[in-house]
Amino acid sequence: MNKSKEVLQEIIHSGSLPTLSRVASKLMQITGHDESSLGEVTALISQDVSLSTKLLRVVNSSFYGLPHEVGTIHQAVTILGTKALRSLAFSFSFLNIERPGHGQGFDYERFWERSLATAVASRLIMGRVSDQNAEEVFTASLLLDIGKLLFAGAYGEQYDRLLKEAAGSELRLMELETEHIGVHHAEIGFEAAQHWNFPLSLAHPILHHHAPDNAQAKALAIHTTIRVVHLASLVSGIMYSGKPIDYHRPFQQKARSMFKLSTIVTDEILDKVHIEMDKAAGYFGLKIEGAPRIHELLQMANFELSQLNLSYEQINRELVQAKMRMQKLTDELEEKNRYLEGIANLDGLTEIHNHRYFQEFLSREINRATRSKGVLSLVLGDVDKFKSFNDRYGHQAGDEALRQVAQLCRGMIREYDLVARYGGEEFVVVLPDTEQGDAMNIAEKLRTAIEETPFTIDGRTLSLTMSFGISTFDPKGMKKCELIERADKALYCAKNKGRNRVEEYIGKTSWFGLS
Ligand code: GH3
Ligand code: MG
Ligand code: MG
Repeated sequence: MNKSKEVLQEIIHSGSLPTLSRVASKLMQITGHDESSLGEVTALISQDVSLSTKLLRVVNSSFYGLPHEVGTIHQAVTILGTKALRSLAFSFSFLNIERPGHGQGFDYERFWERSLATAVASRLIMGRVSDQNAEEVFTASLLLDIGKLLFAGAYGEQYDRLLKEAAGSELRLMELETEHIGVHHAEIGFEAAQHWNFPLSLAHPILHHHAPDNAQAKALAIHTTIRVVHLASLVSGIMYSGKPIDYHRPFQQKARSMFKLSTIVTDEILDKVHIEMDKAAGYFGLKIEGAPRIHELLQMANFELSQLNLSYEQINRELVQAKMRMQKLTDELEEKNRYLEGIANLDGLTEIHNHRYFQEFLSREINRATRSKGVLSLVLGDVDKFKSFNDRYGHQAGDEALRQVAQLCRGMIREYDLVARYGGEEFVVVLPDTEQGDAMNIAEKLRTAIEETPFTIDGRTLSLTMSFGISTFDPKGMKKCELIERADKALYCAKNKGRNRVEEYIGKTSWFGLS
C-alpha cells in the first residue's frame, strides 16, 4: 500500500472522511459524455427535490444570465449540458455534507470562502481562455484543497500546528505535511477523489494545482483545467494569504505565460472576483461577510510597502547624515589633535620647539646617524649676561628679546635642522648630517647675526650677544646625554673665554683654564 492510501485509511478510520450523498455518488458514475446520460442525470437530480430547487435557482440566476427562465431539471440539463449540471449538483452536495470533527485552529468558514474564491476565479479565467465547460473547473476548484479539510478532521491540533508554522505559505505547508504526515494535502485530496470515484477531470486538478507543470495529463481539456485552477489558486492567495503582493505578481506572470493574458484582462478578472463570489455564496448557502476586493487589498499592501520603503529611505538618509556628521567630527578632532600635538611640542614664549621635542628629535637623529654611520652636530647657545639685561630693561623686555632671538635663529637654519628652547635663556640647534667644522660655521653665523642685529623692544633699540658650544656625534658610539654634556662643556668654555664666541668640544685636557 502506498503512503497516500495508508494515510487515507487512517483518515477513514478516524471517521473524518465525508460520505457523499447517494445522489452525488451516483452522479459520479455517470460519464456525462453520451446523450443517454442526459436522461440519467435528469432522473437522478430530480429525485432530490431540495437539490433540484437549488439548482434551478442557480441556473436562473444572474450567475448564468440565461435569456429565458428554465423551469425543469430536464431543461437545465439540455441547456447547460450533463457535465455542467452534474458539476453543479456535485458542488451543492459537497458544500452540504456534514463537517468533520475538527481542531480548534482550523477555520472552516474561511476554508470554504477561500475555496469559493478559487472556484469563482477559475470560472472567470476559463471564460477568457477556452470554450470548455466552466462548471467542471468551478467544482474542481472548490475541492482543490479538500486534503486540508481531511487532515484537519483527522489530525486536529497536530495539523493546526503545521498550519501555524507554515504561516500562510502553501509550499511550506506541503513540506511540513510531507514531513509529519507522509503525504501533502494535494496528494491526499487526490487519493480521496479516487476513493469517491471522481472523474479525472476533477481529480487531476486537485493533485497538480500547486505544480501544473508536473501534470502529465494526456487530455488537453484536463491540462487546461489544471492550469486554470493553478491561476485561480493564486487569485485566492491574493485574497486570503495575507500577502497579496506575493501572489499578485506570479498570477500576472503565469496568466501571461500560460494563456497570453494581458494585464488588462487579468485586472478585469480580479475586479470581478468579489462580485461573483458574493453571488455564488448566496446560491450555495455560504455565509460571507462581503468578499475582499482585490484591488483594495493590493492598493493597501502597496501603500504599506511604500511606507516601508519610505521609512527605509528615511533611515538610510539619516544614517548617511549621521555618518557625515561623524566624519566631520573626526576630521575636526584630528585637526585639533594635530594642533594640540603641535602646541605640546612648542614653547609658549618663543613659539619654537620646546625641550621635550628637542629630546625626541635628537634621539631620532642619533638613531639614524647610528644606523647610517652618519654624523650630526649639536650647538648649545646661551644669551650672555642675560640676568643684567633683565635687570636693566625689565623681565618683559627680556621675554621679548628671547622671542626675537628664537625667531632670528629659526630663520637662519635649514629646513631639516631643529632650533629649540633648551630652557631659560639657552637655545639648542640640532644639525643632522653636519660635521663639526660646518657646525662651527653655522654657529658663527648665528653668533654674528645676533651680535649685529638691533633688537627693537618697547621702542628701544637694544643689542645682545650669545655664546655657543659645539659637539659632534661620534658614530662609533656615544650616548645622547654625552653629546649634550660635551656641547654644554664647550659652551662653558666659550663663556670662560670671554663670551660672544663659539667653542667646539675638543677634549677636556686641552682646555686651559678648566678643571
Ligand atoms: P651668563 O653670561 O653667564 O650666561 O650670564 P647670565 O646672566 O645670562 O646667566 P645666569 O644663569 O646667571 O642668569 C640667567 C638669567 O636668565 C636669569 C633669568 O632670570 C633669566 N631668564 C631665564 N629665563 C628667562 C625668561 O623666560 N624670561 C626672562 N625675561 N628672563 C629669563
Ligand atoms: Mg644660562
Ligand atoms: Mg646666560
